[in-house]
Amino acid sequence: MPHTWTEEDDILVLYMYKFGCERLGLTRRMVADRIGVSRGSLEYRIANFKALDGIGSATNYARLTQEVHARYSNLPEAQLRRLVLSRHPALVGDDQVIEGLLKEAKTFRRTRNAQLAKKRKEIDNYTCQVCGFCLSYKGRYVVDCHHLDPLAETGERKPTLDNLVTLCPTCHRIAHLQSPPLQPHEIRSLRGIGT
Ligand SMILES: [Zn+2]
Repeated sequence: MPHTWTEEDDILVLYMYKFGCERLGLTRRMVADRIGVSRGSLEYRIANFKALDGIGSATNYARLTQEVHARYSNLPEAQLRRLVLSRHPALVGDDQVIEGLLKEAKTFRRTRNAQLAKKRKEIDNYTCQVCGFCLSYKGRYVVDCHHLDPLAETGERKPTLDNLVTLCPTCHRIAHLQSPPLQPHEIRSLRGIGT
């Protein structure tokens, strides 16, 4: 059955076209799977957004794509990302992953270990310790600090430099596919790195 594109899909595609999908913690393949379309039709949809900006030659874009482009293409990255994460059912429904990331962020805030996380990233040279990904965008590194041995919800075990590790958004997301999180060697093996 052909996929019926929704406004949420197109907002997600617009985000990917403008900002990529690293910061969503997803690859293009994962996005295609979530939406339920082939990688090819996702690329085609992205090309339509490009065409609306006068790039490339696609001309057959849907009215919905035009409307979404007109309404949302001037939003800044963070705002558009919030919109995507709060509205797309395939992402909103993925509670375990998003929740894991949020919980961790909260933990860091609660225990004031942001400084420790900062130091860990510095030591790891802002590079993902699983896959080697390193990207700086407008002076900010696109990396996360992950707690290898996360605090139990009520626990007060202290993060130390040794139980923190720098991960890229993709590896971080993969780590939280289960609880307790997957270990770096498991993520490496899942991603077929170094085998
Ligand atoms: Zn990585």
